[in-house]
Amino acid sequence: MSLSPLWTDIDWNRDGRQDGFLNLEHSVHRSAYGIVPIPATLLKNGTGPTLLLMAGSHGDEYEGQAILTRLIQTLDVGRISGRLIVLPAANLPAAMAGTRVSPLDEGNLNRCFGDVYPDSPTARIAQFIAETLLPMCDVFFDFHCGGTSLNYVPCAYADVWGDDQRRREILEALEFMNAPISWVQKGPPQGPVAGRAAYRNDVTYLSGEFGGGGAITRDALRVAERSIHRLMAHLGILQLAPEWEPRVESRLMWARQKHYFYAGRDGVFEPAAELGAEVAGGERAGIILTPETPLQPAHPVLFPDSGTWICTRAIGRVRRGDCLGHLLVDAPRNEVLSDA
Ligand SMILES: [Zn+2]
Repeated sequence: MSLSPLWTDIDWNRDGRQDGFLNLEHSVHRSAYGIVPIPATLLKNGTGPTLLLMAGSHGDEYEGQAILTRLIQTLDVGRISGRLIVLPAANLPAAMAGTRVSPLDEGNLNRCFGDVYPDSPTARIAQFIAETLLPMCDVFFDFHCGGTSLNYVPCAYADVWGDDQRRREILEALEFMNAPISWVQKGPPQGPVAGRAAYRNDVTYLSGEFGGGGAITRDALRVAERSIHRLMAHLGILQLAPEWEPRVESRLMWARQKHYFYAGRDGVFEPAAELGAEVAGGERAGIILTPETPLQPAHPVLFPDSGTWICTRAIGRVRRGDCLGHLLVDAPRNEVLSDA
């Protein structure tokens, strides 16, 4: 049998607990046969669904990394029904550097799930997830947030696709997670993101944008942790602890391309409203000032539509083309579930 550029000692079909690594070959000048050991934990007990929990796809997004690290330390395999695969730092080089992309190859793990996998360390991780892990899974939960450059009002997320029953199943899982905002996008993702690989494997893709700005806030952490515990309960994998039982008010929302807005020129973005605000189309989102040429008139940035300002840029200095944020608008449940 030939040697693989990414291998593991974990036996995915064995009952019990295995704490191991996905060993990613990384051959460089100082270490010809070196590996990047990506931590992976398997918890399997009896029959039940398989859930992949992944954080650190982007290394500068910390809520999921913290939550899954604690989960690995505290979860007793005897308490679960089914199979949990936990990757607390999926793109380990990026996670250790605290950066969105990998310092090894500038690879963005969540843009490596296209139909072709280039020969790079980050793409190899993606390929392993897509071709080895996802075929075993029923549900894939992928932690995200705005990272260093964006800040989100914490929300849970789902791709909704498939036949009537499948769409309903996916939406029910998202709604059971009961984040204050449930963000849905309809149809399989078009880009090379992890949700695309989930779709190819007929695996439900759930995620969330739990804060950002390069830091962890208590609020974002709590929304994320509550979502994941409620999801495990919904799937019958783990009993719901009383702490996560009370329901909160939740809004079902979505975005179109037009709800994203961008810097029209270089400068300093001064927002005119707070993240989370209800805004009107054409209203001022802020101005871009140029301290380097202070007499240049401020460049106005307008909200492209009415909606909730769910995501904003977290870094003041901007370049033309930088995303300054996006809105979400209420999604009618019947439209989310409809065929169209
Ligand atoms: Zn992310």
